[in-house]
Formats: sequence, structure tokens, C-alpha cells
Amino acid sequence: MEDHSNRLAALRSGVRDQPLYVSALPNIRYLTGFTGSAGHLLVTADKATLFTDSRYSSQAREQARCAAVRISRGDARPVLVAEAKKLRLKRLRFEANRIDYGTYAYLNAELPRCRLMPVDSVVEKLRQIKSASEIAAMRDSLALNSAAYEDVVNRLDARWSEAEMAAELEFAMRRRGAEGAAFPTIVASGEHGARPHAEPRDQRIEPRALVVVDQGAILGGYCSDMTRMVALGDPGAAQKALVQAVLEAQAAAIDAIRPGVECRTVDGRAREVLKKTNVGGVRLDELFVHSTGHGLGLEIHEGPRIAPGQRQRLRQGMVVTVEPGVYLEGLAGVRIEDVVAVTASGCEVLTGTPRELRVL
Ligand code: ZN
Ligand code: ZN
Repeated sequence: MEDHSNRLAALRSGVRDQPLYVSALPNIRYLTGFTGSAGHLLVTADKATLFTDSRYSSQAREQARCAAVRISRGDARPVLVAEAKKLRLKRLRFEANRIDYGTYAYLNAELPRCRLMPVDSVVEKLRQIKSASEIAAMRDSLALNSAAYEDVVNRLDARWSEAEMAAELEFAMRRRGAEGAAFPTIVASGEHGARPHAEPRDQRIEPRALVVVDQGAILGGYCSDMTRMVALGDPGAAQKALVQAVLEAQAAAIDAIRPGVECRTVDGRAREVLKKTNVGGVRLDELFVHSTGHGLGLEIHEGPRIAPGQRQRLRQGMVVTVEPGVYLEGLAGVRIEDVVAVTASGCEVLTGTPRELRVL
């Protein structure tokens, strides 16, 4: 409750009191606490009003204590429009990247005297800086995710398919109290691991192959995200050297994280390390085909982006992943991912699971 009123106050102070229509559900949750799957929020200089439908009447009143709640039968947008007319809004900002076209067209037609003004990432910018209670929630989510990994990796069986291992991991998360998986769990062995976003196959995990396991849970609304490498039997010196190179790249990137550092610098550190290693005449940094990391919180992908060219500076309270990877088509993939919080003077790794390759 206190968190939510502080967030609404921060939102208002940043926007010179211009009314904002919030359509993105994670933003509504962040500002009011409301977790329902349908809702619209109108924030004006002196009031926040949540519009939702009768399925959520008791839940909305219980959760959104710092907002007025308006319940409709069915579509809540006509009630939102009526409120905007009653308030005689001349301007209304909307979340350009988070509104559907039908809603935009509807507001545009129904509010002819109100100028609709697109804005981008107004609430998302506030969300980039996590409060102490949010960081505590993320620690819990990460601890649960790590525990689910341990539950399963210790029972890993050569008869399991990738899809079965992924299912076991998601079941372990739910059993430990997660609301669900933060994204579809990735289990990719051997050459399949060369696809960064591989979908688990109905095929057995290959012995002595590197297996990429990328998993995240949602707990208390907050996402976790971790990638670890495992193998059923020794994968051999060449593959272990790949894992070692990625571990070193990740360590160099984490080492660069502190307030004031540009995101592109952190990304560059990982690439510099990978540049030093060659495999079959190809430099490993050329096989690192995605960015080094991303913010996370109520959503699995948030700002800031730890990527080439990103000049945004890290600030205390940001929580980001550091996940360099290399992908050799037809052979294997390696990625190692931890979650790191930016502190007053440096950073703290929030993921508890050891990073080294686990040979079973
Ligand atoms: Zn991940
Ligand atoms: Zn990630």
C-alpha cells in the first residue's frame, strides 16, 4: 500500500500532472497492486482510478487500496470514457507501445475533445529501479528457481527427453510455490543448444553432450531467470573449454557493473573476453549472437538492455541478467546466466547456484 502510493506520487512528479491512461497490466500492478487479467488505470493529478469488470470486483477493492475502483459489467472502457468526459480531460497520455489498436481507435472516436498523446515507457522507467522490498521479492524468486533446479538436476536421467526435463523443472517450481514459469523452460542438448531460444524436443538428452538449461519462475509476481550447463558424462576438453570461455566472459561483465557505467561497457567486457578464443578459425565473439543481458522484475524482459550501443547508465537498484553465450551450429551451445543487482558502490550477484558446468 505504502509502496503503491509512493509509486503513484513518483509517477505524478515526473509528468507534471498530465493525465495518463495506463493500459499495460504489469504497470497497473506496479502502481496499484491489482493482479487481475483485465483492467485500465487512469492517473490524474489528484486521483488514480482502476476500471475493471465484475469478475474482479472484490479482488480489485482488496488489492488496489490507493486507487478508486470502478466496476463494469463486461467491457470497462465505456466507464473509462465516461470518467474522462466527466473530468473534461483536454489531453490524455497513453502508452504507445502497450495499447492495442482497437482500444486506441475506440478512445479516439469516443473522446473527440481530448487530445491523445503517445508516450513511451513512463511507468517502465520507474520500474527499472527496484525498491528494497522488490529486491527481496526477487531474491525469493531466484532462491525458489535455484531450489527447483537442484530438485531436478540431481535426478536427471538418461531416459528423459528434453521436454520431460523441462516439464520436471516447471513442476518443481510449482510445487515449491511458484505462480508459474516466467517463460517456457529451455532444455537443449548437443547441437540443439546452438539455438539460443531452443524449444525442448521429444528426444533423449544426449550423453556427454552439453545441455543448456534456461529456467525462470514467478513468485510474488517477480520473475527469476537462470541458465546453467549440465552434461550426462564428461563432454571432453574442447567443450569444457567453451564453457570456461563463457564463464570468463560472464565474470568480466559482472566485474564491470556499478552505478554510472554505461550498459554498452558491460556488454563490451563480455565480448572482449570471447574475442581472445578461437574455435576452428572463428572467434567466439562472432558466435555470441545476442545481447549480454536485460533487466527483469514483474516482467521477464525489462529495461535496461545490456547490449552494444546502449549508453544508458546503470543506477543503484537496477536488477539485470548477465548471460553471454556462444552458439556453434551443428555442434553445441553454451550460455551462463545470473541475476545481478546494482548496489551503491558495485553489484551483488543474487543467483545462488554455482555457475560451473555440472557433469553428472
Ligand atoms: Zn534465461
Ligand atoms: Zn535472460
